[in-house]
Amino acid sequence: MLQCRVGKRTGTAALNMAIDMLAEGLINEKTAVMRIEPKQLDELLYPIIDPRTEKDAHLIVKGLPAGPGAACGVLVFTAEDAVASFRAGKTCILLREETNPEDVEGMRAATGILTARGGMTSHAALVARGWGKCCIVGAGALHVDEKTRTARITGSDLVLKEGDVVTLNGTRGHVYVGSLPMMDATENPRFQQFMTMADQFRTMGVRTNADTPADARIARGFGAEGIGLVRTEHMFYGEGSDQPLFYLRKMILSNTAEERKIALNELYPFVKASLKGTLEAMEGLPVTIRLLDPPLHEFVPQGAEKQSELARALGIAPEDIQKRGEDLHESNPMMGHRGVRLGVTYPEVSEMQIRAIFECTAELMQDGKRCVPEIMVPVTCDVSELDVTRKIVDQVHAEILKQFGIADLEYKYGTMIEIPRAALLADQMAKSSDFFSFGTNDLTQLTFGFSRDDIGGFMNEYLDQKLLAADPFQTIDQDGVGQLIRMSVEKGRATKPNLKIGICGEQGGDPASVDFCYKTGLTYVSCSPFRVPIARLAAAQSAIKASMKK
Ligand code: PEP
Ligand code: MG
Repeated sequence: MLQCRVGKRTGTAALNMAIDMLAEGLINEKTAVMRIEPKQLDELLYPIIDPRTEKDAHLIVKGLPAGPGAACGVLVFTAEDAVASFRAGKTCILLREETNPEDVEGMRAATGILTARGGMTSHAALVARGWGKCCIVGAGALHVDEKTRTARITGSDLVLKEGDVVTLNGTRGHVYVGSLPMMDATENPRFQQFMTMADQFRTMGVRTNADTPADARIARGFGAEGIGLVRTEHMFYGEGSDQPLFYLRKMILSNTAEERKIALNELYPFVKASLKGTLEAMEGLPVTIRLLDPPLHEFVPQGAEKQSELARALGIAPEDIQKRGEDLHESNPMMGHRGVRLGVTYPEVSEMQIRAIFECTAELMQDGKRCVPEIMVPVTCDVSELDVTRKIVDQVHAEILKQFGIADLEYKYGTMIEIPRAALLADQMAKSSDFFSFGTNDLTQLTFGFSRDDIGGFMNEYLDQKLLAADPFQTIDQDGVGQLIRMSVEKGRATKPNLKIGICGEQGGDPASVDFCYKTGLTYVSCSPFRVPIARLAAAQSAIKASMKK
């Protein structure tokens, strides 16, 4: 043998090889778990065609497997039609002779992309793979006629027409007639078998960052063992949030504590319902709910028209809204009136949220459901902020026990460590905390002095010139930010040996950062739902590597 190299393989191939070799007794479980790069799981996290039906399906043409997963939809022949179909709420497959940059909006709008020409590095292939979108290129038997919106197939009488339904298997490069049943990656038996095997070796927990009951359910499907961060303010964005957003704005625009209380009372049922749904979806697993942490000005409409609309609804003058918007303006809102600072100035805001958390917990307990909320205070820099907030927690807790006639209602109280001063004083912060969670987005921003919203202007230069090895907002900077984390863990546990410590910044789903967290002794990492399997595998591999060193 002259030379030996690791064979390159896709995520699916790596999974199949690991499971097959294990079944044949060629490798043991530990080795099988080490055989897949955590990031390769990305390719397995997309819907696939149910293998039980695929073998009998009508295969019409084959191409190159350019983008992972499966996709099903009606055929469209132009990028414009793909966009129109998307707007009409229909899933579509964009069929082109080949794609070029003008097709990008259509490619984005389509569920899957199919081209007659091109190779694995063609425009369609590169773009689709970058997006993780299902794509087949180079299906040479197709003869596409954009004018008539039809495609003939060499060796077949079948003519594909606009509106026909097809299903793509982007991992194999197969195109089928009709709509085939799909399976979620979480239902793929080999994937499940592999993840269960990996979990046997894992010692560090993996939670998710989820803000809605729907996110929570997805994350549980991917194996999340709890929620490490509910960003409460996210319930005010997106679909169905008009009413709570209106009351939140009313609260922000209040001039007096009395006015604010009225708005908070109106907001209360929405906050409670959203939290209750999330706690319920997690069925007794721990859920860390962060108290409100938005820069306030984000919620005051900017344009004159929107301001007038809100003024009409609130029965106040548009100038009042403009004036309040100006009052709320901050030079650097990321370092402004947010997080615990909101609760210090408006304790009634914290009180409303804490009441919502305890009240829905008590109601769920009454229904025989178990849940243990963890109340997390953001953007703290001193233990006094935690003590002030704890007074509200204690008071509301006592009121809820009385209101529901119960002897106890379990909860935990803790803080994010996301300001360097909090990290420096972690021994003191731990006195008033049951847990820490590293907010490494802000901790990175404040340690580097890089604004997390403005790095776009210079980060690429830093990376190109190799001034930094990696973007610290993606991968923990172990030398600098990592030092603060290590120190906080040591100091925090010197005060409370059993202090639970997690991470909920974006880096929590990055394999190298997960390994760092493992080595630093964190209790868990928390990341977005689709990254949960990646974090699970990375944590299992860290534990295996550590056991091999012993
Ligand atoms: C963080 O700062 O890392 C964090 C999780 O909070 P946010 O991104 O909401 O500031
Ligand atoms: Mg933060």
